[in-house]
Amino acid sequence: MKTIIGNWKMHLGIRESIAHARGVLRSVMGHEVLPEIVICPSFTALSEVRKVLVRTRVSLGAQTMGTERFGAFTGDVSVAQLDDAGCGFVIIGHSERRAMNGESDAIVNAKMKLIAQTSLVPILCVGESKETRAAGKAEVFVAQQLGAALRGVTITKASRLIVAYEPIWAIGSGTSATPADAVAMHNVIRESLQKIGIGASVQVVYGGSVDGAHAYSFLREPGIDGVLVGGASVKIHEFEAIIGAGREVMIAQNV
Ligand code: PEP
Repeated sequence: MKTIIGNWKMHLGIRESIAHARGVLRSVMGHEVLPEIVICPSFTALSEVRKVLVRTRVSLGAQTMGTERFGAFTGDVSVAQLDDAGCGFVIIGHSERRAMNGESDAIVNAKMKLIAQTSLVPILCVGESKETRAAGKAEVFVAQQLGAALRGVTITKASRLIVAYEPIWAIGSGTSATPADAVAMHNVIRESLQKIGIGASVQVVYGGSVDGAHAYSFLREPGIDGVLVGGASVKIHEFEAIIGAGREVMIAQNV
């Protein structure tokens, strides 16, 4: 199974989100073999997009969540509220939030602990900066980020975890990592997870300037379980092509 996640970021209003979600549904219509598809609109559009997705094979996710279950936290949205809104997935530790909203490893860890008490699937983002990669420290950095995010988090055999390897320098830059570099880092991620005792139900996906033209080159790699797509996920023809690449791979490889 391959998983394709669309992170719509702060791009679409409610009407546009409804129209875009309908577009995604049109592009999967009539296909028996399909990758798992998750779309992550802004908070304001979650309820309306949920209505569009009811009884379809496209799932709903959120782009972030707060660090508490409920209470006097103005402006925050808790994991319980996301559950209530029909989300099955939530992105945690996106590099944009780490950089612009002070989402530290400790905050990411607190969120992971809260999610572990729910049925939502975390999409945990990790990834190094250009400088860290240039210094030859990318693998150590990502392994540390992962360890910090998952410290004390109970992940049972029944629960699911998606780790998204998203090198910061590749996000929104138009320059993706090579599939070979992504596979190498995915192996590091899997080894690190094994060391901390988290195994079977983890998927590792790649994110960073994936588009319709080269999604196939990532998705065909057995070590890449899917893609997390930002900019290209709000362009229907791009997202459709990425879904198509996922289908092609699944049919060719019978996965
Ligand atoms: C992202 O925001 O998670 C992302 C991968 O963005 P982009 O595809 O635009 O690089």
